[in-house]
Amino acid sequence: MAPACSRTNSLHVAVIGAGAAGLAAARELRRETHSVIIFERGTQVGGLWVYTPQTEPDPLSLDPNRTVVHSSVYDSLRTNLPRECMGYRDFPFVPRNDDASRDPRRYPSHREVLAYLQDFAREFKLEEMVRFETEVVCVEPEGQKWKIQSRSSDGIFKDEIFDSVVVCNGHYTEPRVAHVPGIDSWPGKQIHSHNYRVPDPFKDQVVVVIGNFASGSDISRDITGVAKEVHIASRSNPSETYQKLPGSNNLWLHSMIESARKDGSIVFQNGKVVQADTIVHCTGYKYHFPFLNTNGYITVDDNCVGPLYKRVFPPALAPTLSFIGLPWMTLQFFMFELQSKWVAAVLSGRVMLPSEDKMMEDVTAFYAKRDANKLPKRYTHKLGECQVDYLNWIADQVGAPPVEHWRAKEVHGGHLRLATQSDTFRDKWDDDHLILEAYEDFLRQKL
Ligand code: FAD
Repeated sequence: MAPACSRTNSLHVAVIGAGAAGLAAARELRRETHSVIIFERGTQVGGLWVYTPQTEPDPLSLDPNRTVVHSSVYDSLRTNLPRECMGYRDFPFVPRNDDASRDPRRYPSHREVLAYLQDFAREFKLEEMVRFETEVVCVEPEGQKWKIQSRSSDGIFKDEIFDSVVVCNGHYTEPRVAHVPGIDSWPGKQIHSHNYRVPDPFKDQVVVVIGNFASGSDISRDITGVAKEVHIASRSNPSETYQKLPGSNNLWLHSMIESARKDGSIVFQNGKVVQADTIVHCTGYKYHFPFLNTNGYITVDDNCVGPLYKRVFPPALAPTLSFIGLPWMTLQFFMFELQSKWVAAVLSGRVMLPSEDKMMEDVTAFYAKRDANKLPKRYTHKLGECQVDYLNWIADQVGAPPVEHWRAKEVHGGHLRLATQSDTFRDKWDDDHLILEAYEDFLRQKL
């Protein structure tokens, strides 16, 4: 555990974003006696989970001047994590039997997640800290403090000074689009999953979905109900891959696309050719901080945000600038909560960070290990296999208990089911004993 000291400072802290990360940050900061303002450009809490049928006018979201729609949630979306391990540790995501409108399933719909986040905000009176419809347009150092410029919905700009800024703006809004040779002369339509909501527009079409991770897998199955054929192209598959997938009679898995041709055909690396109407890019998102001015200290290079100590604190600007929620392929809400406890305790002086030099040494060693393992930069913030170690390290900093046995097992089993039973993992499982363990834990927590 990091050295702790008895001194406690109460700072004036700005949190950017009232999604699951910003809400957790605000709660922990206030618990640590900081005064907090959450800037939220939307009209309600919940961030990504605030579903809207509205999409962006540019279906690939390439136009930097487009009107941005924050959420990437599609209508049919159900969680890809079981609810008991998806929630915050301090506020378990358990079914609400007192309200018939709620979704009690283990892998509930996006509406249930939003309702849960609203419950969380209500329970801890977090909304009173939020300035809705207020977008942060610039964050920059001002002496030892930070100047935030915001713009309210009536177009009024305001400058304010804060002791510290916690960035929680989410990272599923700025699409990454796959490069497909020949695409410029291919005559079909293209959209990114950020702008996918319902399958209806794909009726009777031949659709190629690029990407076979959570969204690619979900969206391709969603479309099979109305489309003529759906073909998934995945770069992680060997080049000979060609497989009819179970669960529907019009869904095929291929290797990556080799080229798109002028005549409307798509050629896969396995040699198969289909005449396609639409390509759906389910190829992920980019970290994007258009408001952040650190004079070039923090950069985003091939989706690696850095330099950051333990993916949270930029060494030269720590502890007054921090980022909650950058890592992916992990227990998001649980991680937000732990990272937030760490930031709040460091800001109050209860937990100390190493010196700037030591933090930089750690970042350099981390990058060296990533490069030695031949991981592309864009995987810098992917946790996956190493998530339990990462979460336990932060838990140790703040004196929180390590990841529970059931939670660690569920993460592993959940990833495995997602990969091997993508059509059934939300409704068929064999780990009831872990659910029981989780609920026993929740009960103990309540007593
Ligand atoms: P967001 O929820 O995106 O919130 C960021 C907030 O910041 C937004 O409210 C936004 O309006 C606000 N904001 C942004 N910029 C500004 C600005 N300049 N000024 C003011 N406000 C600003 N995770 C799971 O745990 N389980 C799942 O099943 C799951 N499914 C997912 C499915 C999809 C399709 C996607 C894309 C992601 C999914 N995730 C899932 C990951 C999910 O993103 C996280 O769980 C989590 O909700 C992200 O929270 P956040 O607070 O970091 O970001």
